Amino acid sequence: MDYHLSWDGQSSILKMDIFYNDHGNDSTVFVFGNPQAGGQPRIFDILGNLKSENGEAIEIIKSQRKIVVQHRNSGVKTLHAEIDGKLVPDQQRAKVNEAFRTTVAPGFFYTMGYQLFMYLRDTSYNQIGIKWDHWPKGMPYLISTNPEAKPDELQVISYEGSARNEIMIHMSSNMMITKRKLDGIQHYLVTSKSDTSSGVPDKLKDFMVTFMPSMRAFWNDRKAPFFILSAIPLLSEVPTTMTGMALPNGMSVRYRGPLEKDKLRIVAHEVSHNWIGVNLKIAQNGMENNWFNEGFNDYIAIYNLVKTGLYSKADFVNYMNYENLTPHYSSSVGEVPGDSIETNFFKSVLYERLPYHRGFIYAFYLDNQLRLASGGKKTIREFLQALNANRNSDGATVLTKADFVRVIRPFLPGKDISAEINRYLAGGQYLDFRKIKLIQGFSIQYEQQVPLLTLSDQVNLQQVFR
Ligand SMILES: [Zn+2]
Repeated sequence: MDYHLSWDGQSSILKMDIFYNDHGNDSTVFVFGNPQAGGQPRIFDILGNLKSENGEAIEIIKSQRKIVVQHRNSGVKTLHAEIDGKLVPDQQRAKVNEAFRTTVAPGFFYTMGYQLFMYLRDTSYNQIGIKWDHWPKGMPYLISTNPEAKPDELQVISYEGSARNEIMIHMSSNMMITKRKLDGIQHYLVTSKSDTSSGVPDKLKDFMVTFMPSMRAFWNDRKAPFFILSAIPLLSEVPTTMTGMALPNGMSVRYRGPLEKDKLRIVAHEVSHNWIGVNLKIAQNGMENNWFNEGFNDYIAIYNLVKTGLYSKADFVNYMNYENLTPHYSSSVGEVPGDSIETNFFKSVLYERLPYHRGFIYAFYLDNQLRLASGGKKTIREFLQALNANRNSDGATVLTKADFVRVIRPFLPGKDISAEINRYLAGGQYLDFRKIKLIQGFSIQYEQQVPLLTLSDQVNLQQVFR
């Protein structure tokens, strides 16, 4: 299936011609929009001018975000569709709509794959091709599959869910690309000239040269075709914010306001996903294993922020106590089972944050146990490297909980990690830090129901997270 895109560089309309094969079916069903993302319930409002060739009938089922094309004969077909990517003037919806939809404005185009590609029930597709037929010549351009590609160079991605979702396409007269080789890997820092006041472009350059080599050293992984760090301001005038996504070999955030500690953490979190969450993840039906894919990932992001000095000891303690332990141990849903998270995800932000907190706290606990069991010789880093060594030859590793348990066993002899996963991560029971030993200088005291971490003055945390 091929997507051919056209835009004149000025209007808010993106034209798409989707070439596909009916594969002998009487009809083809396209589904637009991803209900897992925000800003999508009314996504169909932005889609228009649907046309199919030879006058084949098109039925639009708005409530299900569906387009049904009835075929008269078989072969290669074209569906024409247009996305109106103009900003929503309504301030209430401005941020979510811009963050979760394709944006098309004068001199500006930005989209993620999940905002653009339609989902087909037909499972015979395994690749999507994408290229531009018409575009404003000379306008700076970047597609995350290959930062050097020109708009008319066909890019081919796997049809598989995350490959389809995790792609970024940006074209803008304000785009700046700074190239830098680190560990022999070409890095592309993508920012915007329109941001003249926040200092984000310069700060992100400092972040890139410090943080990227730290992550590569952590994983002992210096192989990548390239790496993209993209931070493009939201066009909507909204209060300070940041939202991001990991890409294969990169990440992209949209933001407003300065790069303070929390935004630094978001960037680090998305970068870190290139290992945990993208290349190394535990398979799941819903979100029941996001304690690893999100929570462990967040711990490793913070670990490296401390290691590089970008986060101080106080920043770490604050993040642990006030962004993880306090909200988790005082949450009304803190102990629900992992397999109930997905169904409740959009009901309450408490569910949304649950796997992050639960996984972060367990990763902290596990890191302590690994250090204690090895007399300080081994940390969560050696365990994760061993887990990463289980990656398939194709690079993408989808692990099971059993792999996790098997790989950790030699690190923690005599400890039943399988039972712990069932009790604390799948089951949801709180870790009882009154009964848990931590490494020297680390202590946890309860204030009412909430455990809080204290580090002694002697602890050099940058040295601990070496
Ligand atoms: Zn994440």
